[in-house]
Amino acid sequence: MGIRVIEFSQYDVVVPFVCHRCGNCCRDFYPAIEMDMLPEIAGLINKPIHEIQARLGEDCDAHNAGRPKDCFFLEQGRNRCLVHQIRPEGCRLFPTLTKAGLGKVDCPGYREFDNAVKALSGCENGTAARKATHLKETRPIPEGEWECALKKLEATKASALMVQEFAARNGMRHE
Ligand code: SF4
Ligand code: SF4
Repeated sequence: MGIRVIEFSQYDVVVPFVCHRCGNCCRDFYPAIEMDMLPEIAGLINKPIHEIQARLGEDCDAHNAGRPKDCFFLEQGRNRCLVHQIRPEGCRLFPTLTKAGLGKVDCPGYREFDNAVKALSGCENGTAARKATHLKETRPIPEGEWECALKKLEATKASALMVQEFAARNGMRHE
């Protein structure tokens, strides 16, 4: 779902996005589905193509009438995307690479991510955070700076999963 890299003079800090699996972004939402994806979708959710087409048609009508339903592919209760491997591009990019829809969606993962980027950028040597989709070019955080970085992150009340992922992404050992 994306990361953000904060560049300092001697090293880079990688801030990961951690999804909280609340399902908020998949509720009252109709994702744009390409028709050529239907055979693969049918295989994944084990339903005939005509049934999927009919349901998507109903959902599209409801959406256009201003009464959007939850996405057909959201597994209720578990908040899991049933077509995760082949989910539409808009779903892949949300929320770190596109803020589209964020105005309407309460995304706890994005709030946590944004707070972390702000807190970790708060150093006089830090430059504006840049977007990145890979880690090849990043310079590791020196061991002497680990505690400081982790304290800044923990001060944002980041979740345990976020702290764990942050430590892993930046090659830190964290108890
Ligand atoms: S396709 Fe998957 S990720 Fe996209 S809205 Fe539906 S359930 Fe959510
Ligand atoms: S709203 Fe944010 S945290 Fe919740 S499922 Fe969607 S991406 Fe994950």
